Order: sequence, then structure tokens, then C-alpha cells
Amino acid sequence: MIVGIDLGTTNSAIAIWRDGQAELIPNALGDMLTPSAVSIAADGAVIVGLAARDRQSTHPADTATAFKRYMGTQQSVKLGKTSFTAEDLSAIVLSSLKADAETFLGEPVTSAVITVPAYFNDRQRKATRRAGELAGLKVERLINEPTAAALAYGIQTREEKEPFLVFDLGGGTFDVSIVEMFDGVMEVRASAGDNRLGGEDFNETLIDLAKPRIDPQGALAKVDPVLLRELLRVAAESCRRALSEAEEAPFTVTALGQDFTTTITSSEFEAQAAPLLTRLREPVLRSLRDSDIRVDTLSEVILVGGSTRMPIVRRTITRMFGRFPNAAVHPDHAVALGAAVQAGLKSRDAALDEIRMTDVCPFTLGIDHSVADGRGGFRHGIFSPIIERNTPIPASRVSYYQTISDNQRSIDIHIYQGEAREVLGNVKLGSLRVPLPSGKAGDVGVEVRFSYDTSGLLEVDVNVPRAGTQRNLVIVDDDDAPDQADVAARRAVLAAIKRHPRDDSHNQAILARAARCYEGFIGDRRDMVGTWIAQFEAALATQDPRIIDPARAQFDAALNELEGDRYL
Ligand code: ADP
Ligand code: MG
Repeated sequence: MIVGIDLGTTNSAIAIWRDGQAELIPNALGDMLTPSAVSIAADGAVIVGLAARDRQSTHPADTATAFKRYMGTQQSVKLGKTSFTAEDLSAIVLSSLKADAETFLGEPVTSAVITVPAYFNDRQRKATRRAGELAGLKVERLINEPTAAALAYGIQTREEKEPFLVFDLGGGTFDVSIVEMFDGVMEVRASAGDNRLGGEDFNETLIDLAKPRIDPQGALAKVDPVLLRELLRVAAESCRRALSEAEEAPFTVTALGQDFTTTITSSEFEAQAAPLLTRLREPVLRSLRDSDIRVDTLSEVILVGGSTRMPIVRRTITRMFGRFPNAAVHPDHAVALGAAVQAGLKSRDAALDEIRMTDVCPFTLGIDHSVADGRGGFRHGIFSPIIERNTPIPASRVSYYQTISDNQRSIDIHIYQGEAREVLGNVKLGSLRVPLPSGKAGDVGVEVRFSYDTSGLLEVDVNVPRAGTQRNLVIVDDDDAPDQADVAARRAVLAAIKRHPRDDSHNQAILARAARCYEGFIGDRRDMVGTWIAQFEAALATQDPRIIDPARAQFDAALNELEGDRYL
């Protein structure tokens, strides 16, 4: 049996082709989407999905999310005692999906079609393929996410040369692609995007709107900042989802033993999010320009990604294209369903071929710099992107910097690759020291030029015009991919990680949620949650499902009563 898998930055999903159609497979919690989150419990066991995502606020040091952003790099995170690369973490998510499918189908799942963003380069594709192998899957094919989405919409049954524009707004990334079939081959004619635009940014903007209203006195400053961020994020996420269904919705944070709440209307949200909505435009225009396709010749504009469910986004799209987009296939599911269509074709030896584009820069490249904090000081270690991810290559871009102290003798240029705002989260590629002429802070300018070519060669030129100084550094992208023996060794490491029995998923998820609530509340409510946790742990200790199941249902209802229904 070949399955189709959407391995997303925020959420992943798995589907199969059966009885002539693609069908999504639920996970152990009964959800079609599994958050791409991995956490390691105190006993060393691995937790995947919703429970792992809920542990983000309670156990940040043991939890990883959004690791797809680092796919293909050697960057690793330490969770518990073990270090994991993005490839390892993806393998853990994949094997959890595989287990879900095996339970659902009652037969072993051995092969998969896995989707990747159209702009993924060879290195990122190889890493994805290895993640599949690490999870014990034979990776029959990797296909581009937008082509998968187009397959879910039946592009293969249309006339040739009917271009589809795939508008994919996910949790943290925005991708626009134009896909076309020609001579039975699918081609991504153009791909553009914004790797820092997605549902999370809409949460941030909603927080900016709601926070002064729920807390005009600044009482929330007393809450631990990490916890407060997560409480605000959870409040924004449920408010935003509710706004997808209604004209207004509550935004509520429970902290310090009280509710801080306000009501947000759809039009307030739309006005506040206007700058984000504006950013949706440029990549669309760029993809049309790059492919030389006119809006009126597009056969379909299809919506993919959870964030396209926001009515304000749909309205923006309708205005942009002068027509209604097609969302006939559930936007959260389209990519996985399309992967299953390809898996179905593959099992009948009729898989469609694909031409892929790799002539874009796969990661953002930039340097470390300092940013004024607005209070007379500086924040150091902030990433300054020079060549943005997804830029067609060869590319050459220059950025300008100034000194931050008087008579600064030299400047250290540290070069990084990655997407994180703080350089610590990115991969360091090299550094360069350049002497400077004396001058007042801000008076000495430095030009940094990055040139990146198709062979992965990055050339850094630093120029100090006032002194006539130039320095140059060439960084070669050495593909240090582990060989097969390594894969076997890592598979053994991953296989040795404990997994809780599958029946336990619901219990884990509810305990993780309760722990998050416990940290969020104080006073009576906290005590109440504490009591429920203890009661439920006692029920678990009986190991008797006749006691555990009703106890869990009761626990769940009580938590819903306390913080509103869970949004996934
Ligand atoms: P990715 O491709 O990044 O893995 P998804 O396509 O699953 O992500 O999209 C996840 C995003 O979709 C999240 O930011 C989530 O808030 C958003 N989302 C999901 N459902 C809704 C909804 N009903 N209304 C608004 N946003 C939603
Ligand atoms: Mg996606």
C-alpha cells in the first residue's frame, strides 16, 4: 500500500487512494491533521502531534516545532538527552503517521509519496527522502506541494495547458505557484512566496489589537513572559478561528485568577491585518510575471493551507483576482489528498512525471547585526537577511550597515543561513573581520554584497567606501549528507526511543493540555485543574479502560468548560 503524505511546517496529514478516490486517514485522536511537533517526556518517551504542541509552553526545552524550516541543514536541537536534526524530527512525525495509517488500514504501510515545497533544492529533498527512510518507508516519489494540490483538484483530467494558480497560506509560510500540465508532465511554471507570512503572523497582529484592550492597566506584566506569550497566542488562535465562522469573537486570556477579555469584530481584524493582507499581493504578481501568464488565462485559483480559511484572506484574494477562488477541496487536506492521487497512479504504474524547479536559493542568507532597541541601547545577534529564501539564482544583493560605536576599529561580519530572527537559531557559514577608519558612530558605512550561484557557491564582498578597503570570502556549500551506513545507525537511535502505546494518545494529549491550563491559571481554578489531574492520574493507575475512558471524557468536558473548546 502506498500512502500520500503532506509533511507540513505546522501540520502534517496522511491519505490513501482507495475505491477510486483519495481519502484522509485520522490519527489516534481522530484528527485528520497532526501538528508537526515533537516533544520528549521526562521518562525519555517521544510525544508527537497535539500533545507535543501543547507542551510547547510547559516544556519549551524538550519540544520542537517548525523544524521543516531547517530541513537539509545540519542544525540540531537537543530534546531531553538526544540531539535531533530536522530530518530526525521529520522521521519521528512520519513514523507516527505511518503507525496511524497501519492501525486504520489494518495492514503494513511500506511506501509513500511525500510532498515538499516547490522551492526545495536537492539537499532539502534528499533530507526529506532520508527522513522517510528513517521512518521505515520506501519513498516512491517526492512531489511538489502545489502539484499535489493541483492533482487533488483534478488537473490531470483537464485539457493540457490549463494553468492553475495555487495559493497556499499555512502557519508560517506563504507560497504561490503556477502549475501546468504539458505532454502529460506537470510543471511548476513559477513559484514565489514569503517565508515569514502565515497564520502565526495574523495571531501576532490580533494580539497587538487585543492586548491593550484586555489589559489597559498592564496587569499582565506580572505574568511570566514566556507563559504570557503562549497564553496570548492560544487566545489569538481561537479568536481567529472563531472569526472564520462568525462576525465577532471573544479574545480571552485567563491569568492571575481572572479573565482578561474583549470582543473582536471581523472588520476590526481586517483593518488591523491590512499590512499582512497587502503582503499577499507581491508574490502573486511575481509568479504571474515569472511565468508570463495573465490572470485572465488562469484556469483556476485554488486555495490551500489552513490560513486561507480566514474570510478576510478570501475577500482579499477575490478582490485581487476579480473572481472567486476555488476551495472545493478542503484547504487543509488538499496537499495530502493530491499526494494520495499520485500514490494511486503510481500503484497502477501511471504516475505523472514532474519537472521541478531548483534554481532558487533554498534558504535565506544574511549576516549578524545589531538593532537599536529604541531606548538608547542595542539588541545584538539579530539576523539581517541579504538574499531571501526563494530568490531566483544566480543572485547578487547588497546591504548597507553603519558602525554603532565611535571610532570602532573593525567590524566582524558573521555569515548565516536560515530563517530565524536571532542568528543563534541559524547556521553559521563563516566570518570575516574588516578594519575600519576612525569616525563617529553611524558615520562609517559598510557595504556587504552576497552573490550566490547555482552550484551553491556563496561569495561575500565587504566594502568600506570611506577607507577604500575590500575583503572577500568564498563559502562552498559542502553537501555533508550522511551515507547509507549513517542512515542505518540513526535509524537504530530513533528506533530505540521509547514510544507510549498508541491507546495512550488521548491520555497524553489531555494531560499535556491540563498541564498548560495549570500553568495558565492561578488560585481556585489552578487548584481545580490540579485536583482533576490527580484524579485522572489515579484513574490511569487502574489501567482499566472502563474507568479511564469515562474519567477522560469528564476531564475533557471540565477543561472545555474552563477554557472553551479545543480548536483542533
Ligand atoms: P502548514 O502548511 O504550515 O503546515 P497548515 O496549512 O496546516 O500549515 O495551516 C496552519 C495554519 O492554518 C495555522 O496558522 C492555523 O491557525 C490556520 N487555520 C487552520 N484552521 C483555521 C481556521 N478555521 N481559521 C483560520 N485559520 C485557520
Ligand atoms: Mg502546507
